[in-house]
Amino acid sequence: MSAAAGTVPGTGHLGPAATMRASVLRGPGDVVVEERAVPRPGPGEVAVRVASVGVCGSDTHYYDHGRIGRFVVESPLVLGHEAAGEVAALGPGVSSLAVGQRVSVEPGVPDLTCPQCLAGRYNLCPDMRFFATPPIDGAFAEYVVVHAAFAHPVPETISDDAAALLEPLSVGIWACRRGRVGAGSRVLVTGAGPIGLVSVQVARAFGATEIVVSDVNPARLALARDLGATEVVDARTARVTDLPRPPEVLLECSGHPAATAEAIRALDRAGRAVLVGMGGDELPLPLSVVQERELEVTGTFRYANTWPTAIALVGAGRIDLDRLVTGTYRLDQAEDALTAGRRDPRSVKVVVHPQT
Ligand SMILES: [Zn+2]
Repeated sequence: MSAAAGTVPGTGHLGPAATMRASVLRGPGDVVVEERAVPRPGPGEVAVRVASVGVCGSDTHYYDHGRIGRFVVESPLVLGHEAAGEVAALGPGVSSLAVGQRVSVEPGVPDLTCPQCLAGRYNLCPDMRFFATPPIDGAFAEYVVVHAAFAHPVPETISDDAAALLEPLSVGIWACRRGRVGAGSRVLVTGAGPIGLVSVQVARAFGATEIVVSDVNPARLALARDLGATEVVDARTARVTDLPRPPEVLLECSGHPAATAEAIRALDRAGRAVLVGMGGDELPLPLSVVQERELEVTGTFRYANTWPTAIALVGAGRIDLDRLVTGTYRLDQAEDALTAGRRDPRSVKVVVHPQT
């Protein structure tokens, strides 16, 4: 561990006047670095000194538009929800973690008391507090505070960047669980962005033996092959409905309504369509196909209880998250990080290192 600015080495107590830098979204296209008070961990919480934060499509969307659906940026917001670092201070009553321990942050903390939480579906908690979703600040900052149970210790074999990317990996794990991907599954992944590429790797780790990936970006299709796709379809020139064997599970990661409808048509009888990608609010559903083939169509919303699986798979080398990182930025370059995807078609995942 290193003695961070704002911490007293050996105790983990944050000094009384400690400030930190945070990258703040003030409105569409307007991100600045501000000095802010270091957040204090309350009872049951820890402060985490952030080493790496992934940039997600939702961050870019807030940057571009200032809103996602009903979530509107009405006051300055710190973006970033894919974070990892080391524990910098413990709140009262925390004994499960130690100062200096490396952790991956699960960025949504539910109320833990409502019927959905008690049923084990805490991702559906109506009182979820989720990083970088108005009005909750995210992790483009030197420190964040999180519930101790949502700061998951990671082994030294997992890099800081990979520890941050356990969050998008969790989306892929949840999608494969929802689609009941298992040994010998035939899977179609539409969209080879970061979520599609982690979904490919999870499907392989879960035992899928046919993993077809479709996208319009050749660089991403090549990476999909490297990461476990057994077949790729360039959607500019070929159709997933022409595959020799119909897939059993669709992991829809493009968010493109027309691509989604076509992929549903490609499914085998009794197939399962898992809608992960976010695109249009409405979708033309080929209902006769859904009915005649008894397809299951399900949404996914984030994830629940995925970090233990994510840590085990990455720690064991079954999934490579570092491979997805195509750019690294300092905190004061957050704007460049947020726009990297549109400037470079070879960009897959970029990360911000807030301590730099
Ligand atoms: Zn709840």
